[in-house]
Amino acid sequence: MKNKQSKILLIYTGGTIGMVKEYTSGVLKAFDFKKLVDNIPELGQLDCAIDSVSFKKPIDSSNMNPTHWVSIASLIESHYAAYDGFVILHGSDTMSYSASALSYMLENLAKPVIFTGSQLPIGDLRTDAKENLITSIQIAALKEKGEAVIQEVGLYFENKLFRANRTTKINAEHFEAFASLNYPILAESGVHLKVYHENLWRGSKRKPLKVHTVLDDKVAILKLFPGFNRELLQSVLHIPGLKALVLETYGAGNAPTDSWLISDLKKAIAKGLYIVNVTQCSGGSVIMGRYETSMELERMSMINGRDITTEAAITKLMYLLGSEVSGKSFGTIFETSLRGEMT
Ligand code: ASP
Repeated sequence: MKNKQSKILLIYTGGTIGMVKEYTSGVLKAFDFKKLVDNIPELGQLDCAIDSVSFKKPIDSSNMNPTHWVSIASLIESHYAAYDGFVILHGSDTMSYSASALSYMLENLAKPVIFTGSQLPIGDLRTDAKENLITSIQIAALKEKGEAVIQEVGLYFENKLFRANRTTKINAEHFEAFASLNYPILAESGVHLKVYHENLWRGSKRKPLKVHTVLDDKVAILKLFPGFNRELLQSVLHIPGLKALVLETYGAGNAPTDSWLISDLKKAIAKGLYIVNVTQCSGGSVIMGRYETSMELERMSMINGRDITTEAAITKLMYLLGSEVSGKSFGTIFETSLRGEMT
């Protein structure tokens, strides 16, 4: 490793970014990270020292699961003292889920953890991978007065740095694949790399990093739609061992007023199921009680997801259940912003 200003660890998990096209067959294959600098000579010009570590078997992010999140968190924990920042190369499909999960798992994070990927492989002529990777490394290396500028989990894609747990993948075609409709961007890359300091997350007190590795996957997501029937609801509410449910409602947190729906949900909550009201809209917030169609949900003490994304909600449930938060405090803690995931 060269003796440069910041030390950055790249963690390659898989995804399109790390694939190269074989000249002869045209097949996309996982990238050999030992040859990283050979393939992207521009990395040598950066004012930081870069090491890399790769998943033994890089994966398409559709195959991501909480066990992989624990691997990423553990890698960060074991290298935390030795590096100034971390860049996680990850497929874009489930990047918002993984990055949201990591934001909870890394309590008291004081260094940058930047997720990035690309829509085209790094070997493609028109690739978006190089800019995404190079700028992510630059962002992870940013320091002011010896302190990391970014002290949270971010997601960098197509010129924008987002708070990771505010993002959603919104496009499978455009380079601009992610959006954060309920929170402004943290930084932007144009002629200059512009950081919006007022939007950055800062933990209240300087405490040592605490890595949480227990996640509980006894959770589900249920999306309402016109025609949603009782059979479907019952089948979900009766999943053996189910502990928490994200209910994706309409608009500002509204649901049909059918008496079967209200009474089944009420019963499930009374039996101890945690149900969170999250809007299907990509932007805006649940406001329970604003319309008649959400009054009953408010009365039955459904947890208010406000402006949280589904990705951040489901992973927050896994994290809180894994941390053995239970009883009455569960709803209160869920409704509290832990890592800037809700307003
Ligand atoms: N299917 C790929 C993945 O998520 C897409 C990408 O990398 O953008 O791994």
